[in-house]
Amino acid sequence: METAMTEHAPLALPPRHRSRVALGLTRVAARGLFELPHCLECGKAHYPPQETCGHCLSHRLAWRTHPPAGVLLARADLHHAIEPAFQQRAPLRTGLVRLTGGVTLVAFIHRDCRVGDAVTASFRLDRSGAAVPVATPPGIHFSEDPALTHFAIMPADRTVLITDASGEIGRAFAHACAAAGAAHLWLGVPGAKEPPTLDRGAPLSLPVDDAAGLAAAAALVPAPDIIVNTWRFRAAAEADRDQVRSQMKTNCHDLMALWAAFGPQLRARGGSWVDLLAIEAIAADPDAPGYSASMAAANAVVRSMRAEAAVHGARVVAVYPGPLAHAANADRPGPKIGAAQLAERTLAALHEGVEDVFPDAIARDIADRAAADPKALEREIAELGGRRAFAGGSDLAPVAAGR
Ligand SMILES: [Zn+2]
Repeated sequence: METAMTEHAPLALPPRHRSRVALGLTRVAARGLFELPHCLECGKAHYPPQETCGHCLSHRLAWRTHPPAGVLLARADLHHAIEPAFQQRAPLRTGLVRLTGGVTLVAFIHRDCRVGDAVTASFRLDRSGAAVPVATPPGIHFSEDPALTHFAIMPADRTVLITDASGEIGRAFAHACAAAGAAHLWLGVPGAKEPPTLDRGAPLSLPVDDAAGLAAAAALVPAPDIIVNTWRFRAAAEADRDQVRSQMKTNCHDLMALWAAFGPQLRARGGSWVDLLAIEAIAADPDAPGYSASMAAANAVVRSMRAEAAVHGARVVAVYPGPLAHAANADRPGPKIGAAQLAERTLAALHEGVEDVFPDAIARDIADRAAADPKALEREIAELGGRRAFAGGSDLAPVAAGR
């Protein structure tokens, strides 16, 4: 059995505790946004996040998008640190970044950043799942600096397992991971499905109803870096009770079985689990209550998995697409996301270190509405009906009007 770990697996983890107000940055980094708390009285932006405006003493602060452009004021390469996690990563390149608008951040900086140069700031999730500022030269991706690659999830030179590579979406993920340079590609074949016919990768039978069989399959992949769970089922008709039961079994119970089998070595590896959910996990579609319930249940499982993974420096990424472009959705109105597009955008989000991926406009719109006012969204969807509400476009009123 392979015992060599990747460079990140045995590392100590950076401190993860943050104040409640500072956890706002985690939300921002998890979605790949750049927001800061802004004072609603005087307009001043603040970093680190705080509950009171230091300028005018107002308590009325709200998170708003902030331009990420700034200048590097100073740079310090740290060769010693008290925290074991930082000591292991020494030397740490850090710098003082002054953003447009006057906010100053202490950030991890790309090796090519020079004092006085323009930089672009971002927030990234570290191995503990905490948000930290990162600055790069404009137009340069942080992952081009080896000291910063641990913020990204990249299939290149990694062992990747797609749990269901027999369907269109699983095949698209397999092709995208192969194109991104995955070293070993395992093509999962859950249940009694037919093995996929792909020019890359090795088929792996996953008997999801047989714990011993699943453990034996997991033993064949002792060092997974990335597991993409594409094992999903959507009932063609919710009136069919058997289909609705299969839906909950596949989307929720089989997810738990797969995590039980593959989770231990993924955590030991400090790897990443990427779970394909659906936007119905965030907002229920009244035309598909069983499917929505199965996705909400899977979402709860995914959050529990993430909590379990975080203490090992492993990551769990959730992907919430809107309507998919497949035959079952052919008569749905509105735009739909294709399998290849879904795989490409998910890999792009992993490259950015995003934890909650909303890969299309409908998914982003529903996520924004759910965050702004879940009750208003529930009523809007109820009035329109699921088919129209989840079709996007102009059927829903502008998000968070008046806020
Ligand atoms: Zn103020």
